[in-house]
Amino acid sequence: MESAKILPRADTAARNKRILVAFDFDHTIVNDNSDTFILSLLDTPLPEEIEDVRGEKGWTEYMDAIYGHLHSLGISTAAIHQHQERVPLVEGVKEFLEFLSTNKDIVDCAIISDANGLFIPWILEAHHLLEVFTGRIHTNPAWIDDTDRMHIAFYHTNTWCELSARNICKGAVLRRLCYPNAQQEDVPSAAEELLKPLDDGCLYDCVIFVGDGQNDYCPSLRLRPQDFVFARQRFQLVNLLKKNAELVKAGVFTWATGYDMLEKTKTIIKR
Ligand SMILES: [Mg+2]
Repeated sequence: MESAKILPRADTAARNKRILVAFDFDHTIVNDNSDTFILSLLDTPLPEEIEDVRGEKGWTEYMDAIYGHLHSLGISTAAIHQHQERVPLVEGVKEFLEFLSTNKDIVDCAIISDANGLFIPWILEAHHLLEVFTGRIHTNPAWIDDTDRMHIAFYHTNTWCELSARNICKGAVLRRLCYPNAQQEDVPSAAEELLKPLDDGCLYDCVIFVGDGQNDYCPSLRLRPQDFVFARQRFQLVNLLKKNAELVKAGVFTWATGYDMLEKTKTIIKR
């Protein structure tokens, strides 16, 4: 992919132009929902008491109950790992990520996702893409206990943002990635700080947020006029952005494949 490398113009290189490309994961990098993909490991429907967890407690608790169910059926985490490696990528996304990775001197890549800290690395590693995101995967923590049961917990407890889920406000995470002295996730911040859009203090000349769903709407609204939201065609985010166009400051680019995003990003790097 060496030939894909784009050299920044001399003037922009001189002032260290930097770009952040922050990705959602499910239906953005992978062409499926990595959470529900594990259900195809089961031959029988989930017991009703597990289905109830979803409505009564929420999605993260529901996923944790599913991991408990798989464990009770004797399905090992090695089997889950092997199964998850089959989650397919969106067409052209591998090529897009490889392109970004050859332009590391100006581009940082991050993931901000409501999936989890086991599935994302397992899937990326299977496609030799894990190192594109070294140190920049922000998602719900997941782990395997001594009995070989998988667990998941909230990324943080969102009490400030009505647009986002209880367990992750992607806008707050995006903001933290863009400021060197921003609060860490385990340090409580004032709600007004967590709700701020990006501004002049941002580390990046341009931020690109790539997503498809409802929980990608909050980070999209944080972006500045020089930034871009790459919204997947025919998914919910596009409709939300259209319906609320007056709230969106960033450029909106809709895409069907990773190749579309690759071409658009080349023009952004060159400008
Ligand atoms: Mg998604």
